[in-house]
Amino acid sequence: MAKAYGLDGKAIADEVIARVSADAAALRGRGVTPGLATVLVGADPASQSYVASKGKAAKACGFHSEQHTLAETTSEAELLALVEKLNRDPAIHGILVQLPLPKGIDSARVLEAIDPRKDVDGFHPINVGLLSIGEMDRALVPCTPAGSMIMLDKACAALGTTLAGKEAVVIGRSNIVGKPMAQLLLQRHCTVTLAHSRTHDLPAVARRADILVAAVGQPEMVRGDWVKPGAIVIDVGINRVAGQGVDAAGKPKTRLVGDVAYAEAAEVAGAITPVPGGVGRMTVAMLMANTLEAAKRSA
Ligand code: NAD
Repeated sequence: MAKAYGLDGKAIADEVIARVSADAAALRGRGVTPGLATVLVGADPASQSYVASKGKAAKACGFHSEQHTLAETTSEAELLALVEKLNRDPAIHGILVQLPLPKGIDSARVLEAIDPRKDVDGFHPINVGLLSIGEMDRALVPCTPAGSMIMLDKACAALGTTLAGKEAVVIGRSNIVGKPMAQLLLQRHCTVTLAHSRTHDLPAVARRADILVAAVGQPEMVRGDWVKPGAIVIDVGINRVAGQGVDAAGKPKTRLVGDVAYAEAAEVAGAITPVPGGVGRMTVAMLMANTLEAAKRSA
């Protein structure tokens, strides 16, 4: 029997969506409808499904939502022209360009062309800088780490503790998850270690953590004996691995696992997020929260 408090990503994401919907209704009452534009270039099935779920969530929140689907052959100049048009459109408060972009398009250039006030992914260097200097009234924060912080607050509330002064270890130093996660933990007065593929004796570093965040992309890399008893474990990883048997179409089954060996870690941790049904559910919800925030600021 797992001892850890199980964090329910769906329930927490639903709470965020309910709050965003209520605030969006109030904003509409003042004549402002939050607007989200998603931009998809090409026909990658995973990207299509991500963009569709973002559009669906935006509609559920009562936002104006529009999807711009461009051909795989779209040039960088054409994409930049669309971004510029959306930057100028007063009905649009959030612009999301789905990554990865086709080869031949410079993603950094496209992301930097988005008006930072409409950059609801929080990837623009201006937002990265605002986050790092703690200007939270102006920054837009990347959705996955922002959602992870809400899960952490829920865990702290359930365990009757707070973040200030805790040892936090984040494994993974990507710009979209690891680094912003470390910044957010630092702002909440944790003592933060940002570990990565060159870290020496990673299990020993992880065992120091009161708060352990795994954002690596390695299936079940974090074992039960890496977890300090009572720690809060946030598993950001989403990895598809071979399952058992075949599906109705005769294809080998697959399943999703995190970066943490859940069953082992749940024996030791104080609280833990599952995969699926954990942090992944929060990312789209936080995109809606960012779009609402951008709309409020523009009003
Ligand atoms: P990334 O590949 O950009 O970065 C991975 C990081 O992990 C790197 O900094 C690398 O140094 C580190 N790393 C790699 N191998 C390691 C090892 N053996 N030991 C220690 N560190 C190692 O990945 P990312 O975009 O940050 O994503 C990480 C994981 O989170 C992936 O599984 C991804 O699918 C998932 N993810 C989930 C969401 C969500 O919505 N829940 C969002 C983004 C990413």
